This record gives sequence, structure tokens and C-alpha cells, in this order.
Amino acid sequence: MKCIGLLGGMSWESSIEYERLINEEVRRQLGGTHSADLVIRSFDFAEIEALQAAGDWPAAADLLAAAARALVQCGAAAVVLCTNTMHKVAHDVAAAIAPVPFLHIADATGAAVRAAGVQRVGLLGTRYTMEQAFYRDHLVAHHGLDVLVPEEPDRTTVHDVIYEELVRGVVTAESKAAYLAVIDRLLARGGEGIIAGCTEIELLVGADDVTVPYFPTTRLHALAAVEFALRG
Ligand code: GLU
Repeated sequence: MKCIGLLGGMSWESSIEYERLINEEVRRQLGGTHSADLVIRSFDFAEIEALQAAGDWPAAADLLAAAARALVQCGAAAVVLCTNTMHKVAHDVAAAIAPVPFLHIADATGAAVRAAGVQRVGLLGTRYTMEQAFYRDHLVAHHGLDVLVPEEPDRTTVHDVIYEELVRGVVTAESKAAYLAVIDRLLARGGEGIIAGCTEIELLVGADDVTVPYFPTTRLHALAAVEFALRG
């Protein structure tokens, strides 16, 4: 089994889900007392959030690239960046560790969307993920998908719930209802499936809550990491 490096803490509410999902899947596949071989770097999310808010993506890229190199020095055979938003700097992180693989979250997600036969997919995430090109363009260019994002004020609602509640460990029925209403409006615009394109959204809305194929990025990314560890 190969060792996987996790860049986490963005936020830790979802990083612990990565660790749990990866370990559960290794146990499911290998049985016995097997568990995943992991090295984990968990950031103080307040520092990351401040760089995001300031638009200081070069500093964020340097921070994550250095941390990814450290994971490789600790034995990681691939690196997993446990957040959709920070894939804004995926290119820098991947370049810092090449030729060690960087397992891109939008590849795990895009492959699952295609495998489900979904073409037009709704994307929920932070404002950065929904509004900037880095994530949508990756899904379009590498996976040939049509990507729909919520209109305003829905994007603000989705973003604010992530930063004001989910990354702080707050999960409420009101926010879940608000998300389901946003999802309904994406489906009314022709969405055939929904990407939970923020790693904390699965803490609020699960596949059972949605009537169309649902693509939880934390779970999909974690499973891609196990696939690499065991067979990659
Ligand atoms: N974990 C979230 C994501 O997947 C948002 C927090 C962050 O900005 O990293 O985008």
C-alpha cells in the first residue's frame, strides 16, 4: 500500500471525514486490522481564510506547495489537497511535487459525473469555486461537462453557510432547507445532477436528500486516494 499525503485543515471539519473515509475504504478492501498509510498536514484555517479574503493566492500557493513537498519528504507517494477552493492553486502544488502525483479533486468528481451519465451538472461551493474559472473550467476542459452555478442571491447563501457555519462545525435545519431550495432551482434550470463542490457540504446535505445523482467531493476524492494507494 502506498502512503498518501493529506493537506488538510481547510477546514478540519472535512479533513477528519477524509481520514475516516480513507481508512474505512482501506479496511473494507483489505480487511483485518488494515488501515490507511497517511501523512497529514493540518493548517490553521483562519490563516488560509485570511489569504483567500485578501486575494493573496500567490502566498497561499507558496504555503501549500511547501507543505506538499514536506509530505513527500515524509514518504507520501501522492498528495491530496482536502478542499475544492484551494485547487485554485493546484497547478503550483502539483508542480512543487512533480513527478509525485497530485490527485486533483475535480478529476475524481468529473469522472464520477461522467460515469453516472450526467452531462449538465449543478455546482455548489464557495464563491471562489462557483464564480472563478479554475474549477468549472477543469470540469469542462478535462471532463466535457456543462456546469451550472446558482444565481444570486443563492451563491451568497451557499458561500455564507460554508464560512459562517459549516467550517465552524455548525449544521442547522434552516441551512439545509436553504441548500435544498438552491438545488431545486438548479434542477429547474436543467441540472441533471449536483456536485457538492465544497468538502463540508456533505455534512449538511447527503445523497438521500437529493432526487438526482449527487456527487460528494470529499467522498469521491477520498475513494480516489484509496484507489491510488492500493492500485495506482
Ligand atoms: N472546504 C471548502 C472547499 O472545499 C471550503 C473551505 C476552503 O476555502 O478551503 O472549498
